[in-house]
Amino acid sequence: MAKDEEEDDVLPDKDAAKGFYAKYEPKEILGRGISSTVRRCIEKETGIEFAAKIIDLGAATEAGDTNPYHMLEATRQEISILRQVMGHPYIIDLQDVFESDAFVFLVFELCPKGELFDYLTSVVTLSEKKTRTIMRQIFEGVEYIHAKNIVHRDLKPENILLDENHNVKITDFGFARQLKGDEKLTDLCGTPGYLAPETLKCNMFEGSPGYSKEVDIWACGVIMFTLLVGCPPFWHRKQMVMLRNIMEGKYSFTSPEWADISEDPKDLIRKCLVVDPAKRITVKEVLKHPFFNQMLFEQNIDGLKRSLSTKSRRMSRINDIALRLSISWCCGNENLLLRKQSRFNARKKFQFAILVIRAMIRIRRLRYTAEPLRVEEAIRDPYRVKVLRKVIDGCAFRVYGHWVKKGEGQNRAALFENTPRTELHALYINNLSR
Ligand code: ADP
Ligand code: MG
Repeated sequence: MAKDEEEDDVLPDKDAAKGFYAKYEPKEILGRGISSTVRRCIEKETGIEFAAKIIDLGAATEAGDTNPYHMLEATRQEISILRQVMGHPYIIDLQDVFESDAFVFLVFELCPKGELFDYLTSVVTLSEKKTRTIMRQIFEGVEYIHAKNIVHRDLKPENILLDENHNVKITDFGFARQLKGDEKLTDLCGTPGYLAPETLKCNMFEGSPGYSKEVDIWACGVIMFTLLVGCPPFWHRKQMVMLRNIMEGKYSFTSPEWADISEDPKDLIRKCLVVDPAKRITVKEVLKHPFFNQMLFEQNIDGLKRSLSTKSRRMSRINDIALRLSISWCCGNENLLLRKQSRFNARKKFQFAILVIRAMIRIRRLRYTAEPLRVEEAIRDPYRVKVLRKVIDGCAFRVYGHWVKKGEGQNRAALFENTPRTELHALYINNLSR
């Protein structure tokens, strides 16, 4: 039994799961759900670390479901889906399964960097570049899941784990379903802030057509919005208002953070958060979106380099022409020397072209880079200044966590003001008039 285990957190009866305990040594708790506890564990024979999700089948009765068999059925469905989707680099690998009367043990590869949610809380917001890396991996995982006609239904930063290299691992297939053909689902499951409008509608209005895989794209849009600015798009302290906002697709890019963010990610979010699922972008289209295919210098350009290298046919042809030109311009014994000097260098030209492209992109993005700090502005409205906003957000998040950031015009600077804003403003006006 783990030494640091809390007293009320008793591990399952050893006799009930001999197989698991014979093979693994359970350690500290990594996370919890309604009916499961996830612990780090060590494979005794190899010393390799894993994560064991211990599902309490009895928890179903405690949670109001009178039939613990439902829980077992749901767990078996989770296992069956996990076995179909594992093997992809951005989806969690299931290593082992043990079943007893009261508990099921699912042994997964360990994700030492934990949840994307915790990572986001520690950094407050992610840069566009980091968001691109993370979102591309999530979408590639979703593409793989959807290709198998499976819908995840609970995508959120808590169910996206990070391995030791900060690569994504999609987990928690507890709500996932394999669809039969064009089957539509109607049951309400998922997490409120990430629910798609069609999921809500089919539980509120008679005759709604149900929902399908598009709900995962909606959830990805919500995740992407949250990664970029640290707050979810539809949040409202009254849950009914939040749900209405979701159904109407009511969100905006008006909070100060969005001023520093370029158009491509906004465009992709807009296309994911389309209320009508038939008009929503598909995962294949997402991966072709300019947000994932825009900047030459951030992409792997080895292929392009190879095709333009001096050995390639195109470049040797250009070299050939350059060589002939230099010959025609030169004469006598100086020919050879001059020819060498004026010889066209494809590599140099290519490097120069890359430099020019980089410079052009930087100039284009200048309007998104931070301006020098202006004291008057910092006093008047510190939250509008990007560097100060980062500091303010960092402090606020350490104290209050993500809920503090409510989006829409909210000013977290107010949490740290010693004097009312009106007095600060008056001070500023007085200074100006002096
Ligand atoms: P639930 O269905 O109860 O939400 P999850 O599978 O989402 O169960 O696991 C709950 C939490 O346990 C996760 O959010 C995460 O914090 C932690 N966890 C789960 N699997 C792993 C893993 N493989 N490595 C590290 N932590 C994990
Ligand atoms: Mg979970």
